[in-house]
Amino acid sequence: MRIVLVGPPGAGKGTQAAFLAKNLDIPHISTGDLFRANISQGTALGVEAKGYMDRGELVPDEVTIGMAQDRMKQDDAANGFLLDGFPRNVAQAEALDAVLKKDDMQLDAVLDLEVPEDEVVKRIAGRRICRNDSAHVFHVEYNAPKTEGVCDVCGGELYQRADDSEETVRTRLEVYHTQTEPIIDYYRAQNLVVTISALGKVDEVTARAMDALKK
Ligand code: AMP
Repeated sequence: MRIVLVGPPGAGKGTQAAFLAKNLDIPHISTGDLFRANISQGTALGVEAKGYMDRGELVPDEVTIGMAQDRMKQDDAANGFLLDGFPRNVAQAEALDAVLKKDDMQLDAVLDLEVPEDEVVKRIAGRRICRNDSAHVFHVEYNAPKTEGVCDVCGGELYQRADDSEETVRTRLEVYHTQTEPIIDYYRAQNLVVTISALGKVDEVTARAMDALKK
């Protein structure tokens, strides 16, 4: 299966993607994670991406599309993938279509996670992520780790993403509405969109997502 996950920052895309990818036995490809890995390794790509990310803006398409394409070409993605955070504007969606078409492939579904804006802000403000694995996500109130600052899963250090500050979140939400939301209409025209509510417990949302994808 080839799936795109879309939804505002804080919808739980990363959390859901990790579970869905495991259930469906396809790799979870997150452009945000790829950028963060490049930043921590100090690569040229990471240096270029960091300023945009810190401001909550999109990294330019020339950089992003090439990076996503390279990742999708790897062996583990030959039979499918779950894209999380890509595409994020219509130009990227068109580039993805072109790449797939070249190999006679197409997307199977676009899963749209819906969550009210006030909930998004609360989720992001309290979000803490494990340095070892970005799929290990906690929330200081809703899903607090047993020991403050320590990952329950692997003992890694929990941190707050630099772009999870209130000011940057506002920019990211605006970017989502103006640049990313239009891809939902783009994919609606291809009859690919399934929308589910991202409210509720993590496993409830995963079950809802699996149901929607089966249909
Ligand atoms: P995420 O982890 O998906 O929330 O992404 C974090 C940040 O990485 C975004 O706010 C952007 O600055 C950058 N980023 C991730 N994916 C993309 C993309 N597809 N296009 C442009 N920028 C991206």
